[in-house]
Amino acid sequence: MNIRYELTKNPKNKPTADNPLTFGTIFTDHMFVMDYNPTDGWNDARVVPYAPLVLEPSAMVFHYGQEMFEGMKAYKAEDGRVLLFRPDKNIERANNTNERICIPTIPEEDFLQVIKAVVKTDQDWIPTKPGTSLYIRPFIIATDPFLGVRPSSTYKFVIILSPVGAYYPEGLNPVKIWIEDEYVRAVRGGLGEAKAGANYVASLKAQVKAHDAGYSQVLWLDGVERKYIEEVGAMNIFFKIAGTVVTPALNGSILPGVTRRSCIELCQSWGYPVEERKISADELFEAAQNGTLEEVWGTGTAAVISPVGHLRKDDAVVQIGDGGIGELSQKLYDTVTGIQLGKIEGPEGWVVVVE
Ligand SMILES: *Cc1c(COP(=O)(O)O)cnc(C)c1O
Repeated sequence: MNIRYELTKNPKNKPTADNPLTFGTIFTDHMFVMDYNPTDGWNDARVVPYAPLVLEPSAMVFHYGQEMFEGMKAYKAEDGRVLLFRPDKNIERANNTNERICIPTIPEEDFLQVIKAVVKTDQDWIPTKPGTSLYIRPFIIATDPFLGVRPSSTYKFVIILSPVGAYYPEGLNPVKIWIEDEYVRAVRGGLGEAKAGANYVASLKAQVKAHDAGYSQVLWLDGVERKYIEEVGAMNIFFKIAGTVVTPALNGSILPGVTRRSCIELCQSWGYPVEERKISADELFEAAQNGTLEEVWGTGTAAVISPVGHLRKDDAVVQIGDGGIGELSQKLYDTVTGIQLGKIEGPEGWVVVVE
């Protein structure tokens, strides 16, 4: 794929090392853009200065929400190499999302090439302090100027980059989780397994409710029986119960996380029994009561591993372990971030060098 470059004449000031980075608030000098129309397919691939997009107010994305996104990170290793973590998994998932919401797919090798191109252009923006990285946000929006419900025939694919600090500024601290039994995020047959903005709109109300009650994240139950655990806000969820690692099976309404898959594979390689299955909130509270609920943690690109210290459903609150960080959660965090930074050798193909 041929990529055109139009580099900025006004580079921005990069964040200074003594200023702690937050998450998703500052953006680099450039972005990647390409367009789609039925005649040319994906075309005019370009790296251009980061700037506002100009769209018709009638653009379909504003009215019917035809939008997808991805989230991944680039890291700078101590030897200066720029590393991506399992980008093939994000690209495969992006195209599954595209299929689900009627957006034309992007050839996998082109997708990887354009990610590398824009990351390489702004590689000086990759922070190097522990816990920091360059967050990569590819997304696609429907751009037909049209009111009426059908798939758009034109699209814009954009990749923006954001230097980020730790997702939770407090560090690897246990979070408090609210089990939501009124609102649901997704149902089987819906969009739950697609990475689409629409899922997040559906989640806002419960998130506000949980925040108001002093909880940082919502743990979703299944949309039909509201009994079985699905996932947390933007993370998949894991439990260690009597030595066994348990995570909800991918049932169609759960987002198939790359970090989830990686944790399953690491736990298996360390000899832990791992079960991907249905697990009810009742089973969880029982395990907590009889002392077999040893650890709970969330997994996602943004936070990597997020230990859970408290769970609440209705008026029942349980503390997990001593409310601190579990041993396996810490080991997973150290191992996954070690692999991402090129300090630990991971399984074959997990780390891709941007050249
Ligand atoms: C992105 C996302 C995850 C985590 O997926 P990763 O690939 O591990 O970052 C989990 N749940 C939802 C709803 C998500 O959007």
